[in-house]
Amino acid sequence: MGTSVTVATREPLYAPVGPRERVGVRTPMRCPVCDGELRNVIVRDLGGITYDLVWQVHAGECPEHGWFQAEVISRPPREIFPVDRPFGVARRMVVDGEEVFAFATVWNDQPDQVKRSRVDPLDPRYWRVRRLANAKR
Ligand SMILES: [Zn+2]
Repeated sequence: MGTSVTVATREPLYAPVGPRERVGVRTPMRCPVCDGELRNVIVRDLGGITYDLVWQVHAGECPEHGWFQAEVISRPPREIFPVDRPFGVARRMVVDGEEVFAFATVWNDQPDQVKRSRVDPLDPRYWRVRRLANAKR
């Protein structure tokens, strides 16, 4: 949980859309609360050093549950973070009376063999959250 805050607060200010950002694009990320499609998707490209490195931050907004973002560094993200705005600070969510700072994805549950292999970091199968926050426990 501590790392989630560190990751999300590394860029506290939202920079205007620049050449490294693409808007109106698609993301495998869905709302971790309702599984709805995200709108106003922005992808910030931080890679480009080598062709091998995919380094992106994806941000998108659920009309009901607000902004979320995830970082891709050549692998699907381990966590999806609620943020106050694209590339903004982490926001605290209370879901079913529980504080949530990050939603773990099923990427965490893949066997090492899969984690070490070259998978498509944008494969939506790995972006699903482990458990939808509003699912019945
Ligand atoms: Zn939602």
